[in-house]
Amino acid sequence: MPYFDINLDLSWEDQQLKETAHQFAKEVMRPIAKEVDQMSAVEAVAPGSPLWDFMRHAYEMGFHSSVLPEELGGQGLTPLQYHIVNEELSWGSFGLAATLGVAGWPFLTLALSGNQELIEKYVVPFANCTDGTMVGCWGGTEPNRGCDIISPDLEFYHKPGTRGDMTAYLDGDEYVVNGAKSAWVSAAPIATHIQMHLQLDDSMGLGGQGVAFIPLDLPGVSKGGALEKMGLRDLCQGEVFCTDVRIPKSHMLAGTDQGMHLFDQALSKGNMTMATWSTGLARAAYDEALAYSKERVQGGKPIIEHDAMKIRLHQMFSRVEACRSFSRAVLNLNASIYPGHPEYSFAAKTLCTQMALDNASDAIQVHGGYGLTREYNTEKWFRDARANTIADGVNEHLNRRGGDLLAKTYPRVRATEAK
Ligand SMILES: Cc1cc2nc3c(=O)[nH]c(=O)nc-3n(C[C@H](O)[C@H](O)[C@H](O)COP(=O)(O)OP(=O)(O)OC[C@H]3O[C@@H](n4cnc5c(N)ncnc54)[C@H](O)[C@@H]3O)c2cc1C
Repeated sequence: MPYFDINLDLSWEDQQLKETAHQFAKEVMRPIAKEVDQMSAVEAVAPGSPLWDFMRHAYEMGFHSSVLPEELGGQGLTPLQYHIVNEELSWGSFGLAATLGVAGWPFLTLALSGNQELIEKYVVPFANCTDGTMVGCWGGTEPNRGCDIISPDLEFYHKPGTRGDMTAYLDGDEYVVNGAKSAWVSAAPIATHIQMHLQLDDSMGLGGQGVAFIPLDLPGVSKGGALEKMGLRDLCQGEVFCTDVRIPKSHMLAGTDQGMHLFDQALSKGNMTMATWSTGLARAAYDEALAYSKERVQGGKPIIEHDAMKIRLHQMFSRVEACRSFSRAVLNLNASIYPGHPEYSFAAKTLCTQMALDNASDAIQVHGGYGLTREYNTEKWFRDARANTIADGVNEHLNRRGGDLLAKTYPRVRATEAK
């Protein structure tokens, strides 16, 4: 492997997993990510796009189901192994790694719901899917509800009449769903199923929410086009609309008693995962900068031999190690206890996405003018890293929400006592 792992206790199995994921990232993900990045958003998700080659290949290797419990077709990865795989895949491409991550999201929630009938019908086929055509997505944000959805500490949130853009009401044995999810739902343009957070009870404000599992081929479901954006162009986004979509009652995985809790847990898992992927992105930028600094000669010697460059590269190296250590620790904590501690996930996400952005920016600086060109990966990584300080919760907003949790809930129980 190209770098030394500070954890001296990696098992043979951990190292094999790392090697396999790294090879896939280097040989399959890097070239496809570069190609997809330079296509229009619509072309990138169309049949025949290299995105689908990636999906097929990744599903064949079982990367899509790594989040699932082993008895349902998952790989039974330890938290450390899950981190190792995420870091390597994101080293290949943050956007493609995240596509795989959200693809499994609704199926994981369904698996944890314990509803055997739905598990057999949806989770098992997803785990066994080898052609990349069963894809999940997560519908949290809405056209009028961005940061609002992560603001249960603010007064407006609980006011009767404050409502989300996607609503559902019970009609006999079915829920009827109407409304819109934002243009930012990752993987929506290619998704077949969604985990949808929706308004059930207006008298509770946004707290009156539930969580549904919805197949996207039901009558009344439609989608917006794939969104054109600056970074993470290899992770597509788009709206999901519902007009009188009828779902069986059993598809409402949580009602208003559990809806907010499930949302918090989803946010916590999502942010923790963003931190693991950011480690891969921070490392990709560092690896590339280090290699270039050894090749590029200025002032009569490779630029790495100039003191200013040594300082910059050591700072980049430090950020990679800090990202990895912190995100591994948080993943281990929140995968080991239930419920997880969102404030740790928010801390890991905000710090790691910022460090990845700093590394991506420094990598451009190390490459000089060439770093701005498409000849190198650095400009793509900078655009990708910039998007991540907004995705899954704007960083400053997550810090505010995390601070609110500290104010309300500390001291917390230790993980070992909470198990
Ligand atoms: C790449 C990417 C992927 C995404 N994937 C998904 C996905 O899979 N599913 C999904 O549901 N969503 C997804 N999102 C949406 C993402 O979670 C939202 O973009 C984010 O929560 C912010 O919402 P917004 O963009 O509407 O900004 P807004 O909420 O409109 O915020 C705009 C600005 O106002 C500030 N602001 C907002 N509220 C306050 C306040 N109370 N006090 C002070 N300042 C405030 C914010 O900090 C920000 O600077 C994704 C976004 C991106 C960029």
